[in-house]
Amino acid sequence: MPRRAPSSGPEPLTEYRRKRRFAVTPEPRGGARRVRKKALGFVIQKHRATALHYDFRLEWNGVLLSWAVPKGPSLDPSVKRLAMQTEDHPIEYATFEGIIPEGEYGGGTVMVWDHGTWEPEVPDVDAALRKGDLKFRLEGKKVRGGWVLVRTRPRPGSGGRAAWLLIKHRDAHASTEDIAETQARSIVTGRTLAEIAWQEGGNVEKAASADPPAEIRRLIANPKLVTRRSRKRTPAVWHSNRPLA
Ligand code: MN
Repeated sequence: MPRRAPSSGPEPLTEYRRKRRFAVTPEPRGGARRVRKKALGFVIQKHRATALHYDFRLEWNGVLLSWAVPKGPSLDPSVKRLAMQTEDHPIEYATFEGIIPEGEYGGGTVMVWDHGTWEPEVPDVDAALRKGDLKFRLEGKKVRGGWVLVRTRPRPGSGGRAAWLLIKHRDAHASTEDIAETQARSIVTGRTLAEIAWQEGGNVEKAASADPPAEIRRLIANPKLVTRRSRKRTPAVWHSNRPLA
């Protein structure tokens, strides 16, 4: 698929940076656009902020296009999941797992829930985004196969964020398994949200409220399963040295 060179439009990370205080939050500030020559990456971050949601991010034109999906992706093609478009994020954000301090924008616990590569199934991604109908394939650990993002209520000029629907296509990767419940742990560290908060000094009770009750019951039944809280002051963030996908 052809990939457009970085546009000469406005810096896409302006809104991302305006919302955050990088002296306080461990989230990456991000550099310039990073258009990579490798396969396009995607990430889904489970984020217990004011409310639980899953941040679905697709690498495109050197940034991560982002949608907040309150219920997370469903493998069931008959289920349409609301996806509110949010500001572009820097490519570096794809490996962020940790704590955003309370009181800051998005304050709470962030988990890298799934990641991998994606491939557009349309000839022109920018045109598909403008039209509000983007078909693509995901090659992750938890989510795979064909998907579509469809914009539901275009509100031109409103300045508001567009509401989209994230829907699984019918294929071999479709399933009625509730992966938000059955595969609730971090794809990179194996931790629950409560464990991330525990290890990195976040609000454990708040984080645990977004873990499946079965996971919490398991930990209570056998506290030795809880990953140890490190004694040294740990960086509040997990950064992979590996490439995005
Ligand atoms: Mn979020």
